[in-house]
Amino acid sequence: MNEFHSPTPNSGNELGSDSLESFNLSAQEFQPQQFLVLVVDDAVGNLNLVGRILEQGNYETTFASHGVQALEQIPMVQPDLIVLDLIMPDISGLEVCRKLKENPKTNNIPVIFLTASDNKKDLVEALAYGAVDYITKPFSAPELLARVKNHLELKHSRDLLKQAIAKLERLAKTDPLTGIANRRHWLTLANQEFKRAQRYESSFSILLIDLDHFKSVNDTYGHHAGDQVLVTTIKAIKSKLRQQDFFGRWGGEEFVVLLPETRLKSAETVAERLRATIEDLVKTPPEDQVYPYTTLSVGITSCGAKDINLDSIIQRADQALYQAKERGRNQGVAIAPHGLEHLLRNNNGSDR
Ligand code: GH3
Ligand code: MG
Ligand code: MG
Repeated sequence: MNEFHSPTPNSGNELGSDSLESFNLSAQEFQPQQFLVLVVDDAVGNLNLVGRILEQGNYETTFASHGVQALEQIPMVQPDLIVLDLIMPDISGLEVCRKLKENPKTNNIPVIFLTASDNKKDLVEALAYGAVDYITKPFSAPELLARVKNHLELKHSRDLLKQAIAKLERLAKTDPLTGIANRRHWLTLANQEFKRAQRYESSFSILLIDLDHFKSVNDTYGHHAGDQVLVTTIKAIKSKLRQQDFFGRWGGEEFVVLLPETRLKSAETVAERLRATIEDLVKTPPEDQVYPYTTLSVGITSCGAKDINLDSIIQRADQALYQAKERGRNQGVAIAPHGLEHLLRNNNGSDR
């Protein structure tokens, strides 16, 4: 799915607990009981032996007595680690391992081969198939437990790191106060949309929104109150946008919306809907609203055939916003692009 059309920007992505403080990468005490180990072996005696050792080590265990059974079980039970017999009658451990590594749902589960063979060629092949380690029979309980623990700790650290990276990426794209896209992220996606519109000769519109006399909220009630008003205003605006509209914080009390596949006329309708929504809230605030809302001014424009970059479109939206302020605020002003809107070609701009 194209990132632009993913629900991220307008999908209630409130940060809340998602702050830097909630990272926890510090070494926690290793707790074997939190890990499930699958043992796969065609010899019942081996299953019992390995199972007993792991249970004495406080691991959760589950078992499969042949390769096909293991491959059925693994996607469902999602073990944290697999101890896999190398030589089995139906399909070999190598084949099981190869299939696991091919599947994105199972390819990061560490596999330790258990083998009677100390044939170096087999063992090298096992590692080449993606196994993290091997244990040759006969083995001692402490050796098995030490290897299992090492690989579980490594996997756990990798998982934590992946989570932390995903969280950092999210934080880097998001405005911390309002939870919507920050300016940089909005610009990245808007530029992608600009290129897409040029390539497919489609169009989009932009709304530049500025809260009217917002400074007076801060001056009268304090900065914290101003923050609350920003948050509730954003929430109200967001509730009137479509999932695919791209909503971002331009800076301070200015916000920007990109409406994909939307012609100027329809964009004016959207802007009016947003303006009227906030005006209603100014006139009749909800009972739980502590501070007064302030109205919106909106600059509206769309992408035209003569626009050679996103900047020129944003500048036009800014001029339109300036005119809306000049004309007395609490209104939208639209400026049409110089060239025709691409969508006039097939006349299928979205009706909103
Ligand atoms: P206008 O109708 O001309 O837009 O008037 P205005 O008062 O909204 O505009 P001005 O640019 O004079 O003031 C904007 C104010 O927005 C000043 C600034 O302190 C405030 N502001 C910007 N970002 C934030 C924020 O994150 N939180 C709070 N509380 N205030 C903010
Ligand atoms: Mg402003
Ligand atoms: Mg303002």
